[in-house]
Amino acid sequence: MTSPQREFVDVAVSDVRPHVRRYLDDLVAFEGPSFVLPPGVSDPAQGSESAGEVAMPSSAALEQFHRKICECQACPLGKTRQCFVFGSGAADAGIMFVGEAPGADEDREGLPFVGKAGQLLTKIIEAMQLRRDDVYICNVLKCRPPNNRDPLPEEIASCEPYLKKQIEIVQPAIICTLGRIATQALLKTTQSMGRLRGSLHEYEGIPVIVTYHPAALLRNARWKRDTWEDVKWLRREFDGTELS
Ligand code: URA
Repeated sequence: MTSPQREFVDVAVSDVRPHVRRYLDDLVAFEGPSFVLPPGVSDPAQGSESAGEVAMPSSAALEQFHRKICECQACPLGKTRQCFVFGSGAADAGIMFVGEAPGADEDREGLPFVGKAGQLLTKIIEAMQLRRDDVYICNVLKCRPPNNRDPLPEEIASCEPYLKKQIEIVQPAIICTLGRIATQALLKTTQSMGRLRGSLHEYEGIPVIVTYHPAALLRNARWKRDTWEDVKWLRREFDGTELS
């Protein structure tokens, strides 16, 4: 015979479990994993799996991070943007492309690289024998600078932790920076594209290949050949595929 007290405890625990889970999810979503993580609950962004723990898939971790930062007002661009442009593509992509900042089309649609330069980037990805959905695409800045002016150093500094976290979650095998601004921001250098292209760089242990921004290719078609060499090299470094 079960004691009445024992029955009461069983019912109470099963009723309460979903609420506890939601409460923990909310803590992570609103306060950040560093605020409090009860024993046995892993940081969704770390992807660490110690005994018995199930890591959150990177798609869920990215989505959660997106929700957490999408109302950002850390710099004045928060006031002028239409959309916060987080990033798009596979959350577990092996290749991550990093551009500069959203333009007018991206600001309107909330997605990176959807305008003319974006269409060229899609062609480049397809020439690499990949689909856009196979890679992850984001920018150094998540909000559009007015009139497409260059990002200011303080805007880059303010947005930098967001890109860092995206890289931490996606854990790409290789990063390709598009253009001078993205390259200099990620690699923390003031060197020119001429000096930076053609060498394998590194960001927190991840190899980085530098190439021209697709918008620059629209202005200077003569850079297309070098870009093709860069992305062939990118593909080779990524998985050994030789493109002809
Ligand atoms: N240029 C960029 O650098 N990023 C975009 O998303 C679009 C254009």
